[in-house]
Amino acid sequence: MPNRDPHETREAHEARTGEIDGGMAAPTHRGAGSPAVPLAEVAARLGVPLDATTRAAMRRLPARFPRPYVELFRDGGPADPLRRIAWPDPEETDFDADAIDDPVGEQPLKSHPFLIRKYRDRALLLVTHRCHFYCRFCFRAGQTVEPRLGEILDAIRSLRGETGLREVILSGGDPLVLPDEELAQILRALDALPNLRNVRIHTRAPVHDPPRVTDRLVGRLIAASPVPLWVAVHTSHPRELSEGFFRAARTLQGGGIPLLNQTVLLRGVNDDPATLAELFGALFGAGIKPYYLHHPDRVAGTARFRVTIERGLAIHRALRGRISGAAIPEYVLDLPDGSGKFPVERLERVRDGLYRADHGDGRASHYFDIKSV
Ligand code: SF4
Repeated sequence: MPNRDPHETREAHEARTGEIDGGMAAPTHRGAGSPAVPLAEVAARLGVPLDATTRAAMRRLPARFPRPYVELFRDGGPADPLRRIAWPDPEETDFDADAIDDPVGEQPLKSHPFLIRKYRDRALLLVTHRCHFYCRFCFRAGQTVEPRLGEILDAIRSLRGETGLREVILSGGDPLVLPDEELAQILRALDALPNLRNVRIHTRAPVHDPPRVTDRLVGRLIAASPVPLWVAVHTSHPRELSEGFFRAARTLQGGGIPLLNQTVLLRGVNDDPATLAELFGALFGAGIKPYYLHHPDRVAGTARFRVTIERGLAIHRALRGRISGAAIPEYVLDLPDGSGKFPVERLERVRDGLYRADHGDGRASHYFDIKSV
């Protein structure tokens, strides 16, 4: 993939690669996957303008569109769910009164610049902040320092004395933008962790760039991992479940890797029981367990995706009876104080808009909801 030439202007880089780099110094994309489609072609397909306002919004979060995902786009008007996920909106640069800095409270939990420790038995390794495609609702927008392989290996070394560590989660960004050999090196390094039971890789590659998932890649990952691998895919809408998606899922499953799914509840994309039932039912039918439905995080510039707790609960409850109980994921809120995911059904309503999460060990968190929608 093309890297950003430090001597090339931003405009020339965009024309050459179809990528906008969000104002970052590091290359937008340095690894594996399909080339980016030029922005003008994407705009024409979606029927949207590529104007100065849109470009300004793209500086908040990089823009990149791999061909397999673009093939799913159509000119469906402003309410089209994939357009909402994909195309920057002018509101992204507006003041956002309901936004929370560090919306899931991760910053204080970094034991290393690329390692998040929310739980004693798990470690989240941020192996890249690059993605095949950038979802406009992403809660990790704003990360600008791309880790080097040596820094990732250093983060793994820092875990060596932890006998209680059972699981390492490779996240980012999307780990599958890394070249196969780099992923293999990271996995091999985990062999030094004494009581590790499994490794989980979080990726949207099967959705955004399914050809990235090959038998060769899966074989290398399995051969390199010292413990059983799991993969958590992230989907948002039934239209994302393309033939390529199912093929990628079968390739992973064919290698013996179990699949989970995570979905963010997003206004105007999937905030109705029929859409979610279709999505989760189809995933479950393909042997992919719907695992979490995430309440949307309060990231600056994403107000158009938010729903209230009350509305989210009503949507989640309405799934009962529509699809098998085993296909219904747990609806969770990642608390802004960094205490982790909490089942929304267990939140206690203190008063209008204020909720209490009782952690059951003497600790409690409070959450102020947005006012409406
Ligand atoms: S693939 Fe994940 S990390 Fe990348 S932009 Fe989408 S939500 Fe964010």
